[in-house]
Amino acid sequence: MQTVRCPNCRKRTVLPATRCAHCGEDLTAAIQEQEVEAKIRQIRQEYEKDWLRQPNVVMVATRKDANGQYYIAVGVENLTEPVNVPEAINGVPVRVEHIGRIYPAKV
Ligand SMILES: [Zn+2]
Repeated sequence: MQTVRCPNCRKRTVLPATRCAHCGEDLTAAIQEQEVEAKIRQIRQEYEKDWLRQPNVVMVATRKDANGQYYIAVGVENLTEPVNVPEAINGVPVRVEHIGRIYPAKV
């Protein structure tokens, strides 16, 4: 049984539905978002380990850009070294981002 969490009241509604069973909020955007998240989870499960095996790759994360579009961020230590990842998978963009070294925070 598939459910979606309401962005307004945080309660779950059983699908198929377009409005929250508790507060009536429109769930269209939340359902779409959930589908994209599921797709990204699947892609990451399939590819993440291989990507992380490359010495330059330090992390893989799911991000959202300023336009609200989800993408997979592949964090690298050094941007000038080549990274072997595709530009997109199943319509989800894969972007290489410079992470560099992570320094401990000052106390
Ligand atoms: Zn609700």
